[in-house]
Amino acid sequence: NQASTSEPSLSPKPIAVLVIGMAGSGKTTLIQQINSYMHAKRKIGYIINLDPAVTHMPYEANIDIRDTVKYKNVMKEYNLGPNGGILTSCNMFATRFDQVIKLCEKPRDPALQYIIADTPGQIEIFTWSASGAIITELLASSFPTLVVYVVDTPRCTNPQTFMSNMLQACSILYKTKLPMLLAFNKVDVTRHDFAIEWMTDFESYQAALDKDPSYASTLSRSLSLVLDEFYNGLKSVGVSAVTGEGMAEFFEGIEACAEYYEKIYVPE
Ligand code: GDP
Ligand code: MG
Repeated sequence: NQASTSEPSLSPKPIAVLVIGMAGSGKTTLIQQINSYMHAKRKIGYIINLDPAVTHMPYEANIDIRDTVKYKNVMKEYNLGPNGGILTSCNMFATRFDQVIKLCEKPRDPALQYIIADTPGQIEIFTWSASGAIITELLASSFPTLVVYVVDTPRCTNPQTFMSNMLQACSILYKTKLPMLLAFNKVDVTRHDFAIEWMTDFESYQAALDKDPSYASTLSRSLSLVLDEFYNGLKSVGVSAVTGEGMAEFFEGIEACAEYYEKIYVPE
């Protein structure tokens, strides 16, 4: 161990941000925007790509799962379809994730402030697999960690789609037990005011459902009562991964979540 112990570390631990959301919600584009915002504001961050199947990556990742596992080879070798290949690749990478943690604990630039992780396109590959649980736990036991749940705002103007998305976020919140920042993305297309209104005013959500007298809306009606508690503990922000709107508020949200982590995180 050649590290000098006489020199106390002055920089606080970097904040780890897991970016999760439905396929197409804009996770990768948002991370590109986060990356350019960090450059502009001279914030130092690492980006980890956990999507083994991404073909177009608009940013340069510091750590990339694709350097370690080739999902097409995994498919061939284990005789798997695309989803099985991606899932198995993530599980293989998770077994080595302790090395990623080590890299982040001793970064080339000791002033490292953020570790941003992009997750696979299909949400369930991360949230319903051993790899997701292992990676989340390793990050959360090493750094102040939070989840950014990315919402495709234009697709959520339908109250039932909104409900499915919120249920997904809710289950991730309770599974990870980490602070969560809801990022209503694509506000350049649709403002997210309606979503804030639905989350804070139960009756406005019910009124939106009234316009849709289907069987499923009865379920959404009951669920919205349950989700009230979930909404109360959430921070949310409207962003556009394309125009960069809302990035300052987004980073404020991250800092607030990291502070909250210090209060709530209990190691297993
Ligand atoms: P991912 O699957 O969650 O990683 O989503 P991507 O980042 O690949 O984005 C999916 C699609 O949404 C792409 O066509 C993006 O250009 C588009 N997109 C992402 N963010 C925004 C946004 O803020 N505004 C608009 N208008 N389009 C966006
Ligand atoms: Mg992506």
